[in-house]
Amino acid sequence: MTTVAITGAGRGIGLELVRQHVDAGDRVIALVRNPEKARELADLAATADGRLTIHRLDVADDASVKAGAAETAGEAVDVLYNVAGVSGPVPAELESADWAEWDDVFRIMVQGPLRVLQAFLPRLGAGSKVINFSSQLAASTWPYGGYYSYVAVKAGLNRLMRSVAIDLKDRGVIVGLVHPGWVQTDMGGEAADITPVESAEGIRKLAREWTLERSGDFLKWNGETHPW
Ligand code: NDP
Repeated sequence: MTTVAITGAGRGIGLELVRQHVDAGDRVIALVRNPEKARELADLAATADGRLTIHRLDVADDASVKAGAAETAGEAVDVLYNVAGVSGPVPAELESADWAEWDDVFRIMVQGPLRVLQAFLPRLGAGSKVINFSSQLAASTWPYGGYYSYVAVKAGLNRLMRSVAIDLKDRGVIVGLVHPGWVQTDMGGEAADITPVESAEGIRKLAREWTLERSGDFLKWNGETHPW
C-alpha cells in the first residue's frame, strides 16, 4: 500500500490530496496545525477504515514537527507533500515592511519544508518522493510586482530544494517542485483558474511519474516544465 504524508492537510489543495489518496486506497498521514478545526478531515477519517490518521504539526515549529512526525514513527513514507503555506503581506512594501510577518513567512515556507523533510528523512527510501509546493510567483518570468515576501520565499524554496535534490540523489530520494496552478482555495480566491480537484489530480499524477533523473525540477501541475 502506498503511504503518503501531507502538511497543510486541513483545507485547500492539501485536503483535496487527502480525499483523493484515501479514495485511491492509500494510507494517508494528515498533518495539520489545528486538528480541532479540521472537521472535514475528521469526517473523512471516520469512513477511511483506519487508513487516514490526523496529527498535529505546525511546520514553523521544530518541537511540533518532531512530535507530529514521531506519532507515525516506523512507517515508511512513499510520498511526502510539503503543502502548508501562507500568502504573507499582499500589498507591495516599498516604503516599509512588517518584518515580524516576514519572519513567519520564512519559517513556514522555507524552513518549514526542510524541517518536515528532515523529520521524515529516516523513513524516505529509494523511490520515495518529496513534492514541494512552490508557485509561479517564484519564477523570474513572473511579470508583476508586489507580494515581496511570498516571491522571495518561494524562489528561495526552489533553490533550496534543488540543492537538497542533488544531496539526496545517491539515496534515490526524488525531490520535486510544483506550481499547483492558480487554484480556487482560500489563498487563490474564487476567481482562480482551476479547482482543487484538478490541481490535486495533476499533482498526484506527477508524484507517481517523477523520476530520479528529473529530481530538482520545477513543474506545473499539468506536467509542463515551469521556467525558473
Ligand atoms: P490554503 O490557504 O487554502 O491552505 C493553506 C494550508 O496551509 C492550510 O491548511 C493551513 O493550515 C496550512 N498552514 C499554514 N501555515 C501552517 C503552519 N505553520 N503549519 C502547518 N500548516 C500550515 O492554501 P492552498 O491550498 O491554496 O495552497 C497550498 C500551497 O500551494 C501553498 O504552499 C501555496 O503557497 C501554494 N500555491 C497556491 C496557489 C493557489 O492558487 N491556491 C498558487 C500557487 C501556489 P490552517 O488551516 O491551520 O491555517
